[in-house]
Order: sequence, then C-alpha cells, then structure tokens
Amino acid sequence: MTAFPAGTILGYPRIGRRRELKRAVEAHWAGALDEAGLESAAADLRRATRERLAELGLGRTDSSIPESFSFYDQVLDAAATVGALPARFAHLRESDGSIGLTAYFTAARGEGEHAPLEMTKWFDTNYHYLVPEIGPETVFSLSSDRFARQVAEAAADGFTVRPVVVGPVTLLALAKATDAAPTGFSPLERLDDLLPVYVELLASLKAAGAAWVQLDEPALVSESLDVSPDALAAAAERAYAVLGSAADRPQLLVAAGYAQLSPQAWAALAAAPIEAIAVDLRRGAVPPAAAGLEAKTLVGGVVDGRNIWRGDLEGAWTTLDELRGLGAAAVAAGTTTSLQHVPHDVADETALDPRLASWLAFADQKTAQIVTLARGLADGREAIAAELAAASAALADRREAPGVRDGVVRSRLTALTGADFDRGDYAARTAAQESLGLPVLPTTTIGSFPQTGDIRRARAQHGRGELSVAEYEEFLRAEIRSVIDLQENLGLDVLVHGEAERNDMVQYFAEHLDGFAVTANGWVQSYGSRATRPSILWGDVSRPSAITVEWTRFAQSLSDKHVKGMLTGPVTILAWSFVRDDQPLAETANQVALALRDEIADLEAAGVGIIQVDEPALRELLPLKRADQPAYLDWSVGSFRLATAGAADATQVHTHLCYSEFAVVIDAIAALDADVTSIEAARSRGEVIDDIRDSGFSHGVGPGVYDIHSPRVPSTDEIAQLLERAVAELPLRQVWVNPDCGLKTRGYDETVASLRNLVTAARQVREAV
Ligand code: GLN
Ligand code: ZN
Repeated sequence: MTAFPAGTILGYPRIGRRRELKRAVEAHWAGALDEAGLESAAADLRRATRERLAELGLGRTDSSIPESFSFYDQVLDAAATVGALPARFAHLRESDGSIGLTAYFTAARGEGEHAPLEMTKWFDTNYHYLVPEIGPETVFSLSSDRFARQVAEAAADGFTVRPVVVGPVTLLALAKATDAAPTGFSPLERLDDLLPVYVELLASLKAAGAAWVQLDEPALVSESLDVSPDALAAAAERAYAVLGSAADRPQLLVAAGYAQLSPQAWAALAAAPIEAIAVDLRRGAVPPAAAGLEAKTLVGGVVDGRNIWRGDLEGAWTTLDELRGLGAAAVAAGTTTSLQHVPHDVADETALDPRLASWLAFADQKTAQIVTLARGLADGREAIAAELAAASAALADRREAPGVRDGVVRSRLTALTGADFDRGDYAARTAAQESLGLPVLPTTTIGSFPQTGDIRRARAQHGRGELSVAEYEEFLRAEIRSVIDLQENLGLDVLVHGEAERNDMVQYFAEHLDGFAVTANGWVQSYGSRATRPSILWGDVSRPSAITVEWTRFAQSLSDKHVKGMLTGPVTILAWSFVRDDQPLAETANQVALALRDEIADLEAAGVGIIQVDEPALRELLPLKRADQPAYLDWSVGSFRLATAGAADATQVHTHLCYSEFAVVIDAIAALDADVTSIEAARSRGEVIDDIRDSGFSHGVGPGVYDIHSPRVPSTDEIAQLLERAVAELPLRQVWVNPDCGLKTRGYDETVASLRNLVTAARQVREAV
C-alpha cells in the first residue's frame, strides 16, 4: 500500500510538444516507418513526457505521473485491450490472437470494405473518440499487453507511473450495439462478462509495477447518454464491487471529470471498495458527505483541464479546503480532467503578448499549479502564499487590461431587440429565393476542398515571409480558380471557393477579429493524428474589416453558378477556441454574432446570394446535464439567429452541422431557421432520413450521402439508393445532395471520384422522379 500523492494530473497531452506522435504515426501509415520505428518513437515521447513531468515537480515514484499515452484514442485502447473489436477486424489480429497495431489502426481508419469504428465527440469537448461496437456475440478477453508494457517501460527508467484506462462502465456506456445485436440490446448488459477481463488487466498492471491505476469513468456524470444515470450508477456499484474485491490488484482511483457525478454515482463510488475518487470541482460542486469516504482519498479537480487560463489559484485552494471538510482519509489536488484538452506549454508561445501570456496556463503550467497546491496541502497555506498571490495579481491585471471590455461593442449589444434575432416569414423567403434558379435535388459541397501539400506549403512560406502577400494571394486565386473549374466540370449546382485561405475554420476568423489571439504551438488533439490550434478569445470581439468578402467575390466572378459565402457560426467559434471565463458564454457569442452579421451584409452587398454559416459544434457544447440544456439552446440558437437575421429574404442562408443525432437537437435545428441545413448522416443514413421525416422539419435539408472521414469512394448506386430513400420519405423540394462534411482532409483523387458519383446519382434520381 502506498498512499496517494498529494497532487496529480489526470492525464497529459499525448501528441508531443511538436506533434512528434502525429509525424511518426502518419509516417507509419504511409509505409515510411515500420512498426519497430513507430514503437521506438512512441517510447521516446513517453520518456520525454515522464521526464518533463518530473522536472515540473511530480514525483517519479509516488504514482503522481499518469501514463496516459495513446497511439490514437483512449477508448479504442480500452476496447482493444479487452478484445472488443468488431468481427470485421478479426482477420487482422496477430497470429496469437492478440490485437496489435495493424488491427488497432485499421479499426480506427477502416480499410477497403471494412468501415472504421464510428467517431464521435467525447462528452462536451472537441475531442473525438472511436465508438466501440459491442453485441451479445462480443468475446471479451485480454488482447493487448500494451498498458502493462508501458508501466514496465517506465519502471525500467525508475518511474512508478499510474496507468490511465477508460473504465468498464464508461467503455460500455459509450459503445454502440453491433449490427448483429437484437433491437433494444444495450452494451451495458455485458458488464458482468467484461469485468473478469478488467480484473486480469489490473493484475497484469500490478505485476508490471503499478501501485495505482486510474480508471476513467466520466460516463457517470452524463445525463446525455443512452443509459440513464440510475443505470450507470448501478453499473458502477456492480463494477467496483467486483474490481475492488479482486485479490491481486493495484489501488484504484476512479476519475469522473467533465461535470458533477450524479448523486447516485457519487454514493456508489463513495461506498465502493476502491481507494480514491477524483471529482471535477470546476464543472461540479463539492459533493455532499457520503458513507465510505473515511477510508478514501478524494482528488479534488480544482485546476481546469479544459481551459487555458491561469485562473484563480486562491479559489482552488479554498475549494480543496472545503473538500477536506467531507471527512475523507486524505485530499489531493488534481486537474478536473486529463490535460489532453490543452496545449503543452505557454513558454512555447514567444510571439504572444507577454501580458496575455501571464494570464495563461497550459498543461505544463497547470502541472506546476498542481505541484504548488500539493505543497500547500502538505506544508500549509503559508508555504504557497506567494504563488497564490501571484495568480491573484494576474487575474486582477486581466480584469483591467485594455481590450477586455470595449464600450462600443457593449453598447451595441445592449441596444439589441427581439427583432434583431428574427429573420421573418419562411414562406416569403422561399418565394424570394426562387430567383436563385436552383434545380430539384441541388448538389453542393460543405465548403472546403482538399488542403493539399502545396496549399500548406504556400501558407507556411507566407507565414515565414518567404512568399509576399501579393504572391500568396496570387497563389490562392489560382487555387480558387482550379476549384471552381473542377466543380463546373463535375456539374455541381452550388459551388464553393474551397477555403484554401483557411488553415482552420475557426482560427481564420479569429485571426481577423479583435479580441482573439492565436498561438504558434498550441496544438490540441482532435482525433487520432489530427490536432487543431484553438485560438484564445480573451477580449471583447469586433470586426476591424471584412474577412471573406474578397475571396468570395473573386470566386463568384469566375462562374455563372452561385458560389456560397462561407462563414463559421458563433457557437462553433466559441466551441473551438479557448474562451474567456469572465462573462457568460451567451454574451461572448452575441459579440461574435454581430461581427458575422456585418460580414453577411458585406457579402450580400458584393452580390453573394447564398451564404452558409457553419455550426458543426452546436451539439457538442450541449451541456451534459439536462437541466442546463434549455438555457444553452436558447443562447446558442439565439446567437446564430442574431448573426443571420439581417440577411435579405432573397439571400439563402445555409448551415452545416457535423453530427447525426439529429433527433436529439431537432428543435434547436429548426429554431436556427436556416433555409437549408446540411448534416452528417454517417451513423445510419437511413435513420437520419427517418428522423428528419418524423420531426416534421420543413426547411431545406441535405443529409450527407457519404462519409468524408475515410478515403473510400462511394459508388453511384449506393448514393442513388440513399437519395431514392430520401425522396421517398421527404418532400422533393426539401432535399439537397451533399457529402457529410468538408473535404479538406481528403485527397483529390477520391474527392473527384466521389463527387462525380454524387452528381451522377443526383441526376439519375432527378430523372426518375
Ligand atoms: N465549411 C467547413 C468545411 O467544409 C465545414 C467544416 C465542418 O463542419 N467541420 O471545411
Ligand atoms: Zn461538418
């Protein structure tokens, strides 16, 4: 028995300070790095991480350093470890039946006819995990020793790390039923069959040298899963009764971040035979006293794992103090969640305004804060008084800094009335939009075209000053010209300019709006090897000048067809940025909305007749607690309406949403009041069409006809069948034809082939109706 350390982080970024993992993994996929090479690059990265965390003050041997590495995704890691990959990947197992990198990466990325696991957002974050498929036929068995090997690898270097594994309840709660499962089957029904494999896993981790294991159970905070909080709590009670009484195991920390544990789950964990519980005290309150705490360590999540603010360390200390009032055996300082949601190090941001930088904390700074709080817990508040005061001073400085509050922006917001949020009668708009002259089943894309190496190179050269503004703009015009030509040749009806000028759909806007800062190295994993660099929204937002108008005007000048203006909506801009935490999100969203409203007016003035305002993140920010959802939907939908309600009747406003749980947010989608909505339909294309029909949604809608997340080219027949189903279920005038999402991560070969089939299928179905 070793005591739990006084401070810990629940996980650390895995991609590497310079995205080393991305490079290694992608080289491996491209055949340029063999498996041994990849393993050794990953081992180097893990070693560097442990050394760094020790340098920052976490103990080498006290289990405070988490081992949270993943080649792709932590949910896939857990699924692969317990052997829960669907049957279509069975032939990719190693000769001894274990799941190695080949099966692992194929499950993540698909291959030929073998569709990858579905990907969806992890709780209310912008991280995507792979959805395990579990049915009555799934055979659970320990199929990978990767976790144990990492513990042993650390031990060989003198570290006692704490492996982090997605817990059994969350693994099953996030899984979907296999196709073979009978209707009504819930993966959680397999809990009893799964637990023995976790027991075996725990024993192997102990044998490898782990004194503590962290099992992540964030499902226990959610009210948005298919499983009810009662059922989740009952499953947790059962699971931890079994795992806790395993004869041969390390000590168990069960971690549940992202929101407050449900009262039932909290009571279940408090009473369970485990040794520690980690709770999120930023998105949840200090829980009530509960039976069973007297023998446990409580890890108080007081350092926010999801934002980049240095924050209120004094407040964190006070909250820990409150937690000590619960009567647990010990209290430790922790992050609210894994730090996988924040970049590595503020010190890497040499171009940031030093004043802004002094308000920030990335993973390394947050780790240092944890070390400080842990010292306070051990030695008393006096020992850390200087650090607490310094954090408070930074907070005060931030409140008063110029730009944080802008009088002009604020008075414009105060002057808004209900009419500013209302676009008026839909029938009048459809009548006015007849003048657009679109065919039935209009074909279009979601906005971006492949971001080729050439584009990225040109942008990088421009960034380094090797390509002048004039040269870069000439390059972009050539790119737009070729994208427009391609779409004309393919015969698409509504064209796009391709978004070549955008590194990222949010950052591009952030770079052109006041109130935002962008980072140089602030990468955060989005999924697999993909990372984004969220901007930092620190002050009041305004638009110094038009952002997209010149590119759109140029694109439109090249074609007689309509070119869609392409904007990113306020909710998505917030969701994919690091947002200020000193005012309600609603206020910040409306500031962004006003800037977009002005942009739309400028696009209209430039002769643009169709304008898309993307809100792929609308669903993602939906609070995990039902009670918080109406207020969220109110302000998020409101900000979209504020952005778009100034558009003329004849202007067709589109929106695009990236998820297929259409039924969940249908009321909100309808309330957006966009003329046309394109949505991802990957989950089950047929089901999405049924959901739209059942919802009575009456505006234009384009359920995506193929998945852009994989290079697979959909056949004409396959697309035509979907369209036939759509026109059988929905009024013809309503249906649009488009892919699931933007094409920027695709190559041109598959893009051209897929879009050709899409246009052919639309023509076929058009002729038949
Ligand atoms: N217009 C954007 C694009 O095509 C939309 C991307 C998204 O929804 N994530 O890239
Ligand atoms: Zn999308």
